[in-house]
Amino acid sequence: MSRPETGQEDKKGMVADLRAPEGKLFIGGKWVDPLDGKVGPAENPADESVLASVAMGGAEDIDAAVTSAVAAAPQWGRWSWTARSAALRSMAARLRADSDRLARVDTLDSGNPIAGSIADVEASAEALEFFAGLGGEAGGTTIPGAPGTLTFTERVPFGVVGRITAYNHPLMFIAQGVAAALVTGNAVVVKPADPTVLSSLEFARIAEDDLPPGVLNVVPGGASVGQALVTHPDVPRIAFTGSVATGRHILLGAAHHIKRVSLELGGKNPLLVFPDADPETAADAAFRGMNFTRTNGQSCMSTSRVLVHESLRSEVVAILAERMAALRIGAPVDPQVDVGPMAFAAHYERVLEHIATAKAQGARLVVGGGRPDDLPVGHFVAPTLFDDVDESMSIANDEVFGPVVAVMGWTDEDDALRVANSTDYGLTANVVTSDLGRAMRASRALRAGIVWVNGPNPLPPGTPFGGMKASGLGREHGTEELLSYTEEKSIVLRY
Ligand code: NAD
Repeated sequence: MSRPETGQEDKKGMVADLRAPEGKLFIGGKWVDPLDGKVGPAENPADESVLASVAMGGAEDIDAAVTSAVAAAPQWGRWSWTARSAALRSMAARLRADSDRLARVDTLDSGNPIAGSIADVEASAEALEFFAGLGGEAGGTTIPGAPGTLTFTERVPFGVVGRITAYNHPLMFIAQGVAAALVTGNAVVVKPADPTVLSSLEFARIAEDDLPPGVLNVVPGGASVGQALVTHPDVPRIAFTGSVATGRHILLGAAHHIKRVSLELGGKNPLLVFPDADPETAADAAFRGMNFTRTNGQSCMSTSRVLVHESLRSEVVAILAERMAALRIGAPVDPQVDVGPMAFAAHYERVLEHIATAKAQGARLVVGGGRPDDLPVGHFVAPTLFDDVDESMSIANDEVFGPVVAVMGWTDEDDALRVANSTDYGLTANVVTSDLGRAMRASRALRAGIVWVNGPNPLPPGTPFGGMKASGLGREHGTEELLSYTEEKSIVLRY
């Protein structure tokens, strides 16, 4: 496996943290130039400086990566699952051993707070280990049949999986996104999110020592590169994390070859506070649910629609406002900083537009509302809280994917549940109440893939993750994901 010496260790700043060579794609176990030679800048969203150059692949590079994956998959599929698991565990150990450096790469590239990036490295290692342990569950069954026959099923890998990721957890989405596919014997072509590419290449650099050439390939690029992967005839299985709009393109692109597709899409997640709730617990659930200190509020799970019973609304809003106003905003490599910038300029502009529309439509601004005055450079948006939001307003329905919370009041439980379910999304939901009956009633009535009661506590490993309605197709992180990278084949044998 080739590993060019980059000499980057001598350079200053970010580049000193990179072990993958700049401006290259990872295809067939080699670091190669993009075929049309295109490179672009990786930007630090906190100071708008250029961190490194990254290769921008094209459709021909996807074709080369798929060719490598097709060649590598049969042999990799013949490895015992325990041998594949051992490779995944080794990668997990390397991630942990290099946690500080990898977290710094993600933080500089994405703007996520350093503590969040450290947690992402740990979650990456955990995902690899979890699926390494689960690999043996991808077995088949025996079916009663006629005497002298044996009917059984086997689960076989697809061969090549295309994995396209979103930008908010750059490293974690790569590691989580390939673990199940790899342990079941597939080769993978990864198209990382274009604004945050660097750690996907660092992941490839780590995998290089554990996986045979061609089993993992990483081809950065934009939408057209993603489409080239989605429409490639030799990639029968596509796994996607990103927006609903792109999810639709993925389904359309995958239709011609009748591909198997899983989609992890956006959310506009309700948090329902009942009149018997403790206001502190409710405000804490809304605050923690926004993931301000992990991804600056750029979270598909964020509790961005807070529906509070009128009897508690002013108290919950006051506590939430105080906690949001106390967040320290700045350069996210500083461990004293709670919230960093939006990951890239276009998204920063988008978040500001959502805020401007909310103001124009009559939502009451309580905290934040734009760029902090003391941070003239970087894509910073202050954590922003709107109260008096009406269900007809855009801010009540559109995913901002930023540090913006909308509070709505309610008096009737059925109506609150109706409003909670009234968007196209159905990823997560939260319920805050001290009444078990209410908790169960509301949890069952909410159309969401995940419901938290009394606070967004960590999901134990293996908890199925995914959305209802437009928020996605399929479930990840558990046995369903493992099996989704296999096809079941029935074999009838006469003896
Ligand atoms: P996005 O849809 O803009 O991009 C996601 C990926 O798709 C990127 O790699 C992008 O380059 C690629 N892409 C864009 N157009 C494409 C096309 N036509 N064909 C193929 N690939 C294409 O999403 P984003 O801005 O990176 O991420 C934010 C969105 O992702 C939000 O909606 C968020 O809620 C969602 N998200 C969902 C989850 C989840 O697990 N459900 C997790 C994180 C983010």
